[in-house]
Amino acid sequence: MYQIAVDGPSGAGKSTVAKMIAEELDCVYVDTGAMYRTIGLYASRNGIDKTDTEAICRMLDGISFEIRYYDGVQHMILNGEDVTGLIRTQEISMYASAVSSVPEVREFLIMPQRKFAEENNVVMDGRDIGTVILPEADVKIFLTSSPEARARRRYIELLSKGQEADYDTILAQTIERDLNDSTRAVAPLKPAEDAVTLDNTELDIQQTFDAALEIIKSKVPEVNA
Ligand code: C5P
Repeated sequence: MYQIAVDGPSGAGKSTVAKMIAEELDCVYVDTGAMYRTIGLYASRNGIDKTDTEAICRMLDGISFEIRYYDGVQHMILNGEDVTGLIRTQEISMYASAVSSVPEVREFLIMPQRKFAEENNVVMDGRDIGTVILPEADVKIFLTSSPEARARRRYIELLSKGQEADYDTILAQTIERDLNDSTRAVAPLKPAEDAVTLDNTELDIQQTFDAALEIIKSKVPEVNA
């Protein structure tokens, strides 16, 4: 059994690269951000103030979620409803970032994340996988790139989906999320001491994947077999 942790700031391409790795190695891809997004969606639907930590903690009692895989795609089920298609908006990104700084929310999600990694070969992406969730992971990659590069990719992605986008707003939100994620008291975004940092500011996704695969092959002999 092996565990591959891919951490880093939003928009560095973690999920794209992690999905490519899962396909290449035939292991399970676990998107932990989707779990925070699901909790963020619940907070948003219930009109909870992003800064009201007590209300966020109280609302956890009303949440039951499940992760299911259909054709290899991770689906988030919130109180029986498949919310996979609803958690990718910019508004929910900001909610996810806010709820993720609440220790009780992080605590709530530790067990489901670890359980996956105990039962499967996984590539798991997030912010604290190498530092907190899977400190014994076989491979830890910290994938990063400049805020401008990440905002530009997001901007192009939104335009290509026919959605409205404003580069300056996206850049400001990217920087705000980075700040939230890296300065929170619990499980802040930072590379694990034994992580390999991969900066892909100048790389495209294929080059990023190739570099990540090299790192994995150097650490997990069984994937070379
Ligand atoms: O990765 P993604 O952008 O979908 O994550 C949404 C938010 O969830 C992030 O901005 C971050 O605040 C939070 N998150 C986290 N820890 C993780 C995964 C995501 O705090 N392991």
